[in-house]
Amino acid sequence: MDKYIYGVDVGGTFLKIGLFAVNNHQLLDSKAVETPQENHEISIFQEIIKTINIINIDHGIDMNDVLGIGLAIPCPTKNGYVSTCANLDFCHIDLVQSFKALLPNHIVVTVGNDATLAALGENNSLETPYENAVLITLGTGVGGGIILNSNIIEGKTGLGGEIGHIKVFDTDEVCGCGAHGCLEQVCGTKGILNNALEQKNKMGSVLKEGFTVKDVFDAAKQNDKAALNTVHRVAEYLAIATVNLAITIEPDVFIIGGGVSKAGDFLLDLIVHYFKKHARFNTGDIKFILAHTGNDAGMIGSYYHAYQHIK
Ligand SMILES: [Zn+2]
Repeated sequence: MDKYIYGVDVGGTFLKIGLFAVNNHQLLDSKAVETPQENHEISIFQEIIKTINIINIDHGIDMNDVLGIGLAIPCPTKNGYVSTCANLDFCHIDLVQSFKALLPNHIVVTVGNDATLAALGENNSLETPYENAVLITLGTGVGGGIILNSNIIEGKTGLGGEIGHIKVFDTDEVCGCGAHGCLEQVCGTKGILNNALEQKNKMGSVLKEGFTVKDVFDAAKQNDKAALNTVHRVAEYLAIATVNLAITIEPDVFIIGGGVSKAGDFLLDLIVHYFKKHARFNTGDIKFILAHTGNDAGMIGSYYHAYQHIK
């Protein structure tokens, strides 16, 4: 009999619920539903169960053949326990126990941080997954996840893998985390736009008022000096952070994802250039690849997380 596991990416706006076949890890179906706005500690679980029931009926699946449900959530979590969550109304709650209480006994529930599980999703959906992988996502913020010996790293309280807050430079400006000089302050959207504007004011640029991060990378590809300076700065600071990770955990691969990674090989080649320049010992040969699962990484990772607890 075929068996199934659901992977759920719990976001502040949408819940993305995916049905996976255990025998070949294929995503069979997925639905995105709006995240309820109140009473998250109950309403989110109810919405997930409602949607799973609909998908089960669509595919003629009996709940007895659903072995587990994995959740990816946008906050630090340790073994499913969340102390606070900036995006959802979760406070000092054991999400595994709370969700299990609403489900048939046989269903295994796992919970992990979304960026950490995205790392698992990206890595495990490669044709040959690596044992040790680090994902860095470049978007509004800079997120990350670490896989060591094929397992996610949560750390003592769930803060393991907060790569965006590695200190890489000195500045008086304060990061969202309250500290100064984080990687995110250079490589997050705000950092990129502010620096590009500064460069433009200094030397002129093809960038027009109201430019976006994509415009900065497009201008850099066209050899616009101001945009190139900004992109080189992003690549070099990202390389410095990965050099520090390389001598700490020596992963097999760094996976670069998030909206900014759409700049593709142009950005990747620059990161590798600066990584080799700053690398210690023989870590300079560590591979860099682009992420490939897009917005499904968290959902796919939450599937593999549950799968690891069941097999
Ligand atoms: Zn920070």
